Amino acid sequence: MKLVIGHMYPDLLNLYGDLGNILTLKRRSEWRNIETEVKSITVDSNTNFTDIDILFLGGGSDREQKIVSDDLTIKKGKNLKSAIEDGLTVLGICGGYQLLGNYYQTSKGEKIEGVGVLDMWTVAGTKRMIGNVVIDANINEKNFKMVGFENHSGKTYLGKSSPLGKVIIGRGNNGEDKTEGCIYKNVYGTYLHGPVLPKNPEFADILIETALKRKYGKVELTPLDDSLEQQAKQSLIERFVKK
Ligand code: GLN
Repeated sequence: MKLVIGHMYPDLLNLYGDLGNILTLKRRSEWRNIETEVKSITVDSNTNFTDIDILFLGGGSDREQKIVSDDLTIKKGKNLKSAIEDGLTVLGICGGYQLLGNYYQTSKGEKIEGVGVLDMWTVAGTKRMIGNVVIDANINEKNFKMVGFENHSGKTYLGKSSPLGKVIIGRGNNGEDKTEGCIYKNVYGTYLHGPVLPKNPEFADILIETALKRKYGKVELTPLDDSLEQQAKQSLIERFVKK
C-alpha cells in the first residue's frame, strides 16, 4: 500500500513546527510498511488532487494567507472541492484551517476569501488567543482527549459544519462557544499547533485509516506502541487541567 501526502504551500504556511504533522503521517505509515511520498504543492503548481491521498495545510500569517487565498480559491478551488466531495482526506491547521472556510476577516477589515468547503467563517478579534489547549475530541465515532497549542487572533464561528471537539482548556474556535475545530466529510480543521499529530497519535491514525479506506477499501491498521506518546499527553493534561 502507498499513501501520497500533498503538502500545500510549505513555503508559506509553515508556522510553529506544523511540518511535524507530515513527518508523523510518514513515520506512522512506514512503521506499518505503508509506502509514502510527499508532494509539495504551492502557488502556481498545477494539480487536480486526484493523485493525492492526504492533503495538509499548515498555519500562516495574515500576509501569507492572502497570497495563498488568491491561488487556492481562483486556481485550485474547483478541483479541490471536487476531490473533497470524492472523499479526499484533508487536515488544515490554524491559518490553513481558516482558508478552508468561507472567509477570514483581518483586524484591518480586509476579507480574505476561503475555499468554502467548511461551513464556517473567521473574524479577527482584538486579543490573540495563545496557550495550551485540551479538548474532548469526537472524530469518526472515536472519543479521546487531544492536546495542542493555539496562537491566533481569528475567531471562527461554525455554520452547518460540526466541531472536532469540545474545549476543556484554552479557547478553541472563538473562546466563546467551547467548540474547537471543524469536520466536513474527510476534511478536518483545527487550531491546534504543537504539532498536533505527534502529540495525538489517535488523530494521525484516523487520517491514515480514512485515506487508506478510500483508496483500498477496508483496512485494519496494525497497532503501534504509543505508550510514550500517551504518557506525555497524560502528563500535559494533568499539568494544564490542574492550573
Ligand atoms: N492569521 C491567523 C490568525 O491569527 C492564523 C495564524 C496561525 O496560523 N497561527 O488568526
